[in-house]
Amino acid sequence: MAAVPSADGPGMRARRPKALMRGFALIEMIVVVTIILILAAMLLPVLEAALGSGERVSCLSNLHHLGMAATLYADDYDDRIVPAMLPCPAGGAICWDVTLQPYLRNRQILLCPTDETPRQAPGCICEPHSYGINLALAQVGGYMSSSLCVSQIERPAQTVLWCELNGARYATHGVDYDADGLEKVAISRHGTGANYGFVDGHTRWLQPERTLDPRNLWRP
Ligand SMILES: [Zn+2]
Ligand SMILES: [Zn+2]
Repeated sequence: MAAVPSADGPGMRARRPKALMRGFALIEMIVVVTIILILAAMLLPVLEAALGSGERVSCLSNLHHLGMAATLYADDYDDRIVPAMLPCPAGGAICWDVTLQPYLRNRQILLCPTDETPRQAPGCICEPHSYGINLALAQVGGYMSSSLCVSQIERPAQTVLWCELNGARYATHGVDYDADGLEKVAISRHGTGANYGFVDGHTRWLQPERTLDPRNLWRP
């Protein structure tokens, strides 16, 4: 007669380890899923920080290009810093971002990737922009008036030319520190600080108090 597997025959012995393996697989799966969840929870803030620093770097690159455009403008216009506003031949005023268009590669340079509310300055020809010009240098004596010359700036590496604008609250072309303080500046757009471009063309991320102390970087 053909051999029928008994209770303690080879068939039973083969099933026992299989059941044991299934048990292990379930525990292992729970462990693996738990580890994955813990790792994901740990990595998420790191990824977010990496994304944030990527945006900060591309914003700095925008300000670097704005600085180059301002330098090229000064070369073409007798050392003059680009005026915040210029009279338009057809009437009205032209904002600095439109005046600088011939020196800018593209309009994306005017937009910080973190800025959700880039604005146009009211009552003039203007592109939406995240950045503002320091009016202490670029609007001397009133609206649509003249700007300073680069050579008039005593410390070009310690004088802000470009800052990030608080578009969520204000639509403007620039910042007048003596009139508004830091009210119109997006002082914490990138973490606890924001990016700035200086008259000499260099760019830096700064916490707001560092723009005032040890030296007020807003005054020429
Ligand atoms: Zn920015
Ligand atoms: Zn503008």
